[in-house]
Amino acid sequence: MEFLEFSNICENLESTGGRLDTIDIIAEVLPGLNDDELSVFIRFLMGKIFPDWSSEKIGIGPNLIFESVAYVVGRNKKEVIKSISSAGDVGRAVEKLLLKKEQTSFFSESLDLLEVYRDFEYLAGVGGNRSQREKLKVIKRLFANGTPSEGKYISRLMLGELRIGVGEGNIREAIAKAFSVPPSSVEHAHQAANDLGEIAVLARKGEEELLKVKIELFRPVKMMLAKQGTIAGMISDYGAIAAEYKYDGTRFQFHKKGDSCRIYSRKLEEVTDALPDISSMLLSSTEHDVILDGEVIAVKDERPMPFQYVLRRFRRKHDIADHMETIKLVPNLFDILYLDGEMLIDLPFEKRREILEQNVSSFIAPQIVSKDINEIESFYKNALDDGHEGIMVKSRAAHYTPGIRGKDWTKIKPAVDTIDLAVIGAEWGEGKRAHLFGSFLLACQDERGELLPVSKVATGLSDDMLASVFEILKDLVITESGKEVTFEPELVFEVGYAEIQKSVNYRAGYALRFPRFIRFRDDKGVDEIETISSIIDRFTAQSNNK
Ligand code: ATP
Repeated sequence: MEFLEFSNICENLESTGGRLDTIDIIAEVLPGLNDDELSVFIRFLMGKIFPDWSSEKIGIGPNLIFESVAYVVGRNKKEVIKSISSAGDVGRAVEKLLLKKEQTSFFSESLDLLEVYRDFEYLAGVGGNRSQREKLKVIKRLFANGTPSEGKYISRLMLGELRIGVGEGNIREAIAKAFSVPPSSVEHAHQAANDLGEIAVLARKGEEELLKVKIELFRPVKMMLAKQGTIAGMISDYGAIAAEYKYDGTRFQFHKKGDSCRIYSRKLEEVTDALPDISSMLLSSTEHDVILDGEVIAVKDERPMPFQYVLRRFRRKHDIADHMETIKLVPNLFDILYLDGEMLIDLPFEKRREILEQNVSSFIAPQIVSKDINEIESFYKNALDDGHEGIMVKSRAAHYTPGIRGKDWTKIKPAVDTIDLAVIGAEWGEGKRAHLFGSFLLACQDERGELLPVSKVATGLSDDMLASVFEILKDLVITESGKEVTFEPELVFEVGYAEIQKSVNYRAGYALRFPRFIRFRDDKGVDEIETISSIIDRFTAQSNNK
């Protein structure tokens, strides 16, 4: 497949609103692709280069893109950055700039989908002293050979966001339609293998192949998520429910085979090296090959410490031993997905819990089972008294559903209005904070993943926090003009607020009243930030309560 065909399909999808049209457009293309093209095409459509379980990263920031485009169109980098500011989007700006490219078609070659993928793979792999130069060479070649529209999608793919509004659900249905297999079998295989690219290839071979897909060790599975709800509601829906403490730490998945193990974060990144203490605790807690799900918390004098302490360690690459002495981490296990070659996600939670207790000797999160609201309320009170965030109540019949946020897991915690938003811009600080960013522009997302500014936040960040935010954001700067800076969206803030108001000042049409920074959520990706529709729901609920 030519890359041009891929970019034409993206253009088409970008201008198509409807779900069914989207599915049809994709389903029509899939049968004509060979296996290699098929898996790359599927991942690219979702704005991804590598499978979800892979920790491979292309590692290209906005700067390398600007520099390459500037070279190809014969402008200086400043001019390029100015055009990007006015287009407001790197992809669109690259497209516009490439229109000015001189007609060098005599030498340029058309791009092939698989060749572009191999270039991306190469970019992800180059390291060492000459890596910047090598990377520039490859990116320049891509922009030099691509049409403006191809350039738009190449830059968006490199930055990890395609913005054509194609979600996993659409892709799963398109695969099912293209190869006449039941959507439920595609979904089942996807939950286990965590890569729709590979699933599409299996779907072509038939449903049998999809049904054979099993979870594999050292290939992380998406985490099951929870909804907000009430104890009474859960008891009325399920009768006797399981309740556990809701630990305020960081989610992890532990994979063990024999003596070796790996640990993955909520974003499925490998964090084994940062957590040698957790590895050794868990290695000695079972003799079996397992995949375990849990939350790591930091503890001091038997009391849980704030969540930031744990995240600090997850991020750490050096001086881990020093850090281990000051902050003690403890794992709390609440699920098991795999035992000695057997996949357990389709068993009821009740059964998985039994297997967990029988095969793992320590660190299991205590659980009570009850349909007595008073008993669960008092368990909730104990959780809060012990310094935890609240409780999780779970349906005992539920399967483990990777990546799904459903009411089978319901979180019960004191009502605090907080919201997760992406940091898309900032203003430089003033006075002694003039060398740091001082106030931050935040965005929510619409259904297509388009980011909509919704608030600014300047309160709640200590000097230390501002310094660490600066370290992260300085590499994500896209444009700077006067005091204002825009960023490639990557960092997520959890923000508290007093109220949601309608507003003409922000593109979302709503704004937060009295926003204050609560914490970084670098365990969450930008695709997990609040959606505009849920902000509208919050606004409506708040108006109804008044
Ligand atoms: P929140 O902002 O409330 O922490 P979240 O968006 O991070 O929520 P949710 O899916 O809403 O994630 O809440 C589930 C999270 O709670 C899990 O991802 C996990 O990190 C944490 N957790 C703590 N204790 C438990 C437990 N006993 N069972 C399941 N998840 C738990």
